[in-house]
Amino acid sequence: MALHIFNTLTRRVEPFVPREPDRVRMYTCGPTVYRFVHIGNLRSYLMADWLRRALLAEGYAVQHVKNITDVGHMRQEMLDRGEDKMIAAALAEGKTPADIAAFYTAAFLRDEERINILPATVYPRATEHIAEMVEIAERLLANGHAYEVGGNVYFAVSSFAPYGRLSGNLPRELLEGVRAEADPLKRNPADFALWKAAEPGRTLKWDSPWGPGFPGWHIECSAMSIKYLGPHLDVHTGGVDNIFPHHEDELAQSEACFGPPFVGYWVHGQHLLADGLKMAKSTGNAYTLDDLIARGFEPLDLRYLCLTAHYRARLNFTFAALRAARVARWRLQQRIWDWVDVANSAPDGPVLGPSGEAARERFWAAVRDDLHVPRALGVVWQMASSDLAPGEKLALVRDFDRVLGLDLTRDVAARPKVPADVAALVAERAGLRARRAYGVADALRERARAAGFVVGDAPWGMRVRPALRPDALVGCFSTARDVPSRVDEPPARELSILLHVYGWRADVERCVASVLRAADLGACNGEVVVVDSQSERDDGWLDELATHEPRVRVLRPDHPLGEGEGRNVALKQALGRTLVLMDTSVEATGDFVTPLLAALADDAIGVAGPWGLRSHNLRQFEEATGGEVDAMQLYCFAFRRERVGEIGLMDEKFRYYRHVDLDYSFRFRDRGYRVVALPDLPLVRHEHRGWEELSHEERDKRSRRNFYRFLARWGTRYDLRVPESAQHSG
Ligand code: AMP
Ligand code: ZN
Repeated sequence: MALHIFNTLTRRVEPFVPREPDRVRMYTCGPTVYRFVHIGNLRSYLMADWLRRALLAEGYAVQHVKNITDVGHMRQEMLDRGEDKMIAAALAEGKTPADIAAFYTAAFLRDEERINILPATVYPRATEHIAEMVEIAERLLANGHAYEVGGNVYFAVSSFAPYGRLSGNLPRELLEGVRAEADPLKRNPADFALWKAAEPGRTLKWDSPWGPGFPGWHIECSAMSIKYLGPHLDVHTGGVDNIFPHHEDELAQSEACFGPPFVGYWVHGQHLLADGLKMAKSTGNAYTLDDLIARGFEPLDLRYLCLTAHYRARLNFTFAALRAARVARWRLQQRIWDWVDVANSAPDGPVLGPSGEAARERFWAAVRDDLHVPRALGVVWQMASSDLAPGEKLALVRDFDRVLGLDLTRDVAARPKVPADVAALVAERAGLRARRAYGVADALRERARAAGFVVGDAPWGMRVRPALRPDALVGCFSTARDVPSRVDEPPARELSILLHVYGWRADVERCVASVLRAADLGACNGEVVVVDSQSERDDGWLDELATHEPRVRVLRPDHPLGEGEGRNVALKQALGRTLVLMDTSVEATGDFVTPLLAALADDAIGVAGPWGLRSHNLRQFEEATGGEVDAMQLYCFAFRRERVGEIGLMDEKFRYYRHVDLDYSFRFRDRGYRVVALPDLPLVRHEHRGWEELSHEERDKRSRRNFYRFLARWGTRYDLRVPESAQHSG
């Protein structure tokens, strides 16, 4: 079967037949280089890259042109109004538009390289092709498809009968009134500019037969594609937003100039979305590749993620999805490294057997079927789990990676080495397992794990591989499970104050400011760890605070977490010797830390805090003023971090705050620790939003759920209750 591809022009999946038998002329609408490209743009270029690689795999020589829209396109009005802050700032610094374009061009080429996009044969710059654009406009004037008015040249849409064929937008029906500002110089509102006269004061302008001016929006792609590829291209790619007006107009002016067909196959990629909307700088939902790298991802994680969706389907970007891509890519890479080990020890070259051949057929059939890379990726995974010999698998993956472009076999030499001490642990473990001493063997495996290596038992023997270190992924996690635990690390600080917040900025500000002041966190080397479960409600002020205030750390899940889980994120990441869980309704009015630390210095005391509770029946709890209590409330709940290893993390099934503190208190008491209330700590409580903001029904529902969970666990263990005598001695 030949390669088939969906052609926007015919709205059908068609067999691909280039004009010349073994050569493909391909054009891709490239980036605008007065800003960084975002990962949505990159998705479009990845689609073009997969198509190009598929064509190469078919044996075609591909000439690929990708234009760089540099300053020629930059609209003076936009600069004048300072709409793009980055450009305005650069201009203010004395940079020229050409400097700006050079900077972002370099950034773009670097991004492409990092995600393994094959470099285009030519990257023509718009400003270097003004003469070619003028020439096309002149030809169109000469052959009656364009007209000039006051230094402007317009394409007369009515002169080109097939106009609208690509996008389905017919000029008369759809275009009237579409433009925001109707241009009174146009004969027909659907006409578009090939050349525009420079308005007074404009700096970016070129001489032309019609006076000084600048090119229209679409002419550059016609001029540059035709210059480098001739007037008849095989493939033209872009994102779906390019179909109209950009490609419709490009098609019209090119064919009106040089005759049809301008392009054999128009291929358009669907958008990358974020929060359900097209990713775009102007929408404010755009991420750059560097943004992902800053969050600990590798560029090829994005490539893998984009492989998981067909190019004609929208893809909603989330960090959870990107993380899944990262993990999948990592797992695949690990398997391949395992095959390398085995294949190396079996020196006979790989010969594909019938099932290997069948896998290869399936893979390439998916690629040829309208570039169905997700299905092809599925074949990779099937093949990986099949019982093909490792050498065969390796040969297949080398073949497949020509189109996938994931560098799956390139880094074999660079794979992390297993250090000698870990290798020794693993060898010892193998011996223990042979003697069926599984308990000790498992303990050794845990030690290897702590050293960053995973030990697995493959059919052909034991394998050791580096664990995927998720540490760097904090800041884009979905669940507490994604957050690495630092509980076993020695304390790096004296104190950590842990908050879980759901918005209510004023409360958070009051609490954090008062804690920073009162607890004198600097002197005791303390930190405030904020788990922000409601980032979309604010404007990033917390991040800003954390940037200026090194004692504050913000951890942000990609959706709101329940109370137990949110607290656990903080517990796993806190580095203080003593931890204080607090609520943002609390304000510190003095040094509350010193008395807490003093109380916790007593080994018998597990939990200390100001607002303890007592109960006779586990159903009603009364606030106690001081002394030993049954439980401590989460408003301020302090304990030593070293206890977490013993007590464990909080129960994440408690999604609402109520009873999670009672449950956690009881866990301390279950281990024999005492819970004490310190009556006079300088802390005050304000309105508690977690309670106030909910309807009666909602509070009831959530409280009841937690209450039953609590009672089911502790109700039968009444003996945990503090003896009456102790209760009154405080
Ligand atoms: P622009 O810089 O807006 O001209 O976009 C450059 C390329 O990226 C064009 O081919 C667009 O169609 C494409 N593009 C823009 N936004 C997205 C998006 N969110 N997802 C996929 N492609 C996009
Ligand atoms: Zn273009």
